[in-house]
Amino acid sequence: MMKTTIKAYGAADSKADLKPMDIERRTCGDDDVKIDITYCGVCHSDIHTVRNDWKNSKYPVVPGHEIIGRVTKVGKNVTKFRKDDLVGVGCMVDSCQQCSACKEDLEQFCEKGMVGTYNGRDVHLGGHTFGGYSTAVVVNKEFVLRIPENIDPKGAAPLLCAGITTWSPLRAWKVKKGDKVGVIGLGGLGHMGVKFANALGAHVVMITTSPDKAKDAKALGAHEVLISKNAEDMKAHRNSFDFILNTIPVGHEMDPYIGLLKRDATMVLVGAVEPLKPFHGGGLIGGRKRIAGSLIGGIKETQEMLDFCGEHNIVSDIEVIDMKDINDAYERIIDADVKYRFVIDMASLKN
Ligand SMILES: [Zn+2]
Ligand SMILES: [Zn+2]
Repeated sequence: MMKTTIKAYGAADSKADLKPMDIERRTCGDDDVKIDITYCGVCHSDIHTVRNDWKNSKYPVVPGHEIIGRVTKVGKNVTKFRKDDLVGVGCMVDSCQQCSACKEDLEQFCEKGMVGTYNGRDVHLGGHTFGGYSTAVVVNKEFVLRIPENIDPKGAAPLLCAGITTWSPLRAWKVKKGDKVGVIGLGGLGHMGVKFANALGAHVVMITTSPDKAKDAKALGAHEVLISKNAEDMKAHRNSFDFILNTIPVGHEMDPYIGLLKRDATMVLVGAVEPLKPFHGGGLIGGRKRIAGSLIGGIKETQEMLDFCGEHNIVSDIEVIDMKDINDAYERIIDADVKYRFVIDMASLKN
């Protein structure tokens, strides 16, 4: 297969800073879309992968799975996209397209394993995939999303991971007008959860440990703010939530949040990919309550989310950075010092 060399930014090993490097992309095949990357969001998973926190990183790591760009070329089997279309690529770039999950538009759960946009097994070139901290990418047409032209493309970048991660559970659990929805944690994920739950007509309660986040949460669309450290307030909200979206990225106490759920209601975890603290079975049994998990969303659902964002003019709240500032941005993400997502202006890598 023919290849071209392009500019990227990546990490040579788990201790290294990200630096400029050259990588190879396949040339645009019959089923492919070639994209000139204009913006790429910075997800906490990028940091976990660069630093090998999940013990599965393949180096060099070129992160980035919140990709926005313009189509520069399409293969001959591509009818849905044309040169100059505004498009996006999220967390996946391939899947088997044959298994029951793929056939049900749930490629994220492909039984053969979906191919991550970075750190996945590259089924075209061999080796592993490289993400969006780069000038261009070539992606199978089934994994390219259409970005509505009326929304800000910079703010649209985080929709491809943070957006779909929060949208999918809200839809899967059929959150509707008038439901009381809790969103735990006000970060990249949580701020999108608040925006979406509000747009779906829910009564949105931001659940956070920090009172100083109340004003921001309300500006994003929360109707109430519940400080989880305040026992009186937690008691006042007991057994009252129809649905809770839990975006806490680390293991944590579950019992206080289980107590907030109504009978038969569900709390969905989207953040903590690690052991949870033990919780009491009685809390679930007493009200037939449920704890569930959710992983990004399928391509069809991601497109639905993007179209919804076009109709409702929803984008992420972001801070734009140059590529060279990525290592500082990582430190600020770890310190939760960003409202609420960094987006790299890829022109800063090209020039
Ligand atoms: Zn992500
Ligand atoms: Zn599959």
